Amino acid sequence: MTTLLLKNVVYQNRITDVLIRDKHFDMIQPNISLNTDVRMDCKGLKAILPAFYNGHTHAAMNLLRGYADDLPLFEWLNKYIWPMEARLSAEDIYIGAKLACLEMIRSGCVFFNDMYWHYSQSNRAAVEMGMRICNGPLILDAYNPSFQSEQELLINRFIDAISTFPETVIPSLCPHSVYSVLPETLKKISKIAEDKNMFVHIHLSETTQEVADCIKTHGCSPVAYLDSLGLLSPKTIAAHGIHLKAEDRDILSQRGVILVHMPVSNMKLSNGSFDVPAAQNAGIKIILGTDGASSNNSLDMIREMKFASLLSKHSSRKTTTLPAQEVFQYATLNSARTFGIHAGIIEPGYLADCILVNLKDVHLVPGYNLISDMVYSADSSCIDSVICNGRFLMKNGVIKEEDKIIEEAVGCGERLRSLEVETFMSAFDGTST
Ligand SMILES: [Zn+2]
Repeated sequence: MTTLLLKNVVYQNRITDVLIRDKHFDMIQPNISLNTDVRMDCKGLKAILPAFYNGHTHAAMNLLRGYADDLPLFEWLNKYIWPMEARLSAEDIYIGAKLACLEMIRSGCVFFNDMYWHYSQSNRAAVEMGMRICNGPLILDAYNPSFQSEQELLINRFIDAISTFPETVIPSLCPHSVYSVLPETLKKISKIAEDKNMFVHIHLSETTQEVADCIKTHGCSPVAYLDSLGLLSPKTIAAHGIHLKAEDRDILSQRGVILVHMPVSNMKLSNGSFDVPAAQNAGIKIILGTDGASSNNSLDMIREMKFASLLSKHSSRKTTTLPAQEVFQYATLNSARTFGIHAGIIEPGYLADCILVNLKDVHLVPGYNLISDMVYSADSSCIDSVICNGRFLMKNGVIKEEDKIIEEAVGCGERLRSLEVETFMSAFDGTST
């Protein structure tokens, strides 16, 4: 059993010691004098805070960061993002996910709820980096019903493999959205999720077009449609939920669905603004996420907290909407709880997930209110160390193999760019099919 002692760390405005035994916080009190395996003297200059939990992302899309920005939504997807994604191999996805893990760790995140092709590659990356992940097969068959049998096989294989997953990997099923998955498949997923008590991760009511098309095709809103298929439960993680009517909010609240709010993606793709007060008043549980790097373009939860709070204040025209403490809780405790992770609070008995922030960082000075500073002023440069499950993922600003991960991602980007040029050239000389 490994023991880790943080000496003279600032915890709730006082200097104390924190002992981590194996995966849990064990003792918080001054003057702990034990011989431990690992010891860090914080000298009263570093504060301990809960780590962040990213409620929705597509980690491997880090490889597409900055590739095509500032374009109309459907042109962006059809002409750039989907063709580029089609070129990604399983190994590319592993490299992209590692790059994403690196970025998330550097910004204090220890968990991400992922949705992408080749889920096992993102799981591999997260496990190697020491992070927690919720993930599973991406289901998308409406554009090509011949995928159905292939995807059924994929789900069966996934279910068989769950017992071999490490404890830091939480299984989920990821039907992409109401428009990209066939109704019979959504029904099957709902049944499997119920039988296996598994998370379902889906995009929901992200655009006005999605809502209008759903009403046209199924005669009701995406929320009512998913409810009719039995897909909504406290284990349903719904990304976005921007375009909701009062009756949709009532259904989401009654079913205990968790909505993931992603203000940066919503603003960048010009999809509208999630109504935080309306969702809160309806009693819907809310957590925060970054979405993928194509629509953000960063996976930094500190920035996301600031944007969430400011956008809500701006939209509601009320300065008291989504205060710092509340949005910090969305990004930490609420998110950890959502995924059944006994963390998000620094207390004995809780899983030892935390960050250490440098109190002399320029953004945290003079230091009247640390949580306000973390939300409104800080950037990831204030994060000195990150601990997940009792292990350092970043220590004194150093992450294992950082240079190698970046080098591989640069190489991957160069290869993808050359493929793009080849495709362009073959189209130009008429050899394209
Ligand atoms: Zn997404």
